Amino acid sequence: MNHDTIFSKIITHKIPADIVYQDKYITAFKDIMPKAPVHILIVPNIIIPTVNDVKMCHEPILGKLFTVAAKIAKQHGIHENGYRLIINCNHHAGQEIFHFHMHLLGGKYLGPLIE
Ligand code: AMP
Repeated sequence: MNHDTIFSKIITHKIPADIVYQDKYITAFKDIMPKAPVHILIVPNIIIPTVNDVKMCHEPILGKLFTVAAKIAKQHGIHENGYRLIINCNHHAGQEIFHFHMHLLGGKYLGPLIE
């Protein structure tokens, strides 16, 4: 099955995005419809459609998502006030793009997790 999404095209630079970080394993870029002053998507370069598809072999790359998140938060000066990391899985969580991604949100008080 082909799990290619728009995020694969961003990772391979086939379509433009505001990329703030990229290495061999991870790409991070600004969300096109930001929900906070800082809203960045942190994405593994390999395709994992949802959290349900995570395998033990993915543990190193998924751990690296947090290292990159902390680095980006610091670069954007939001690390001390704080920020929120969100990973949506499937319909009830509102997942729209089926390429595993972590939302990094910050730059203002974010309020309760669920209203
Ligand atoms: P989710 O609902 O967790 O699947 O989140 C998908 C996110 O991808 C949404 O916040 C969208 O605004 C964002 N998004 C969709 N297309 C693009 C794009 N081309 N560039 C940047 N962000 C995008």
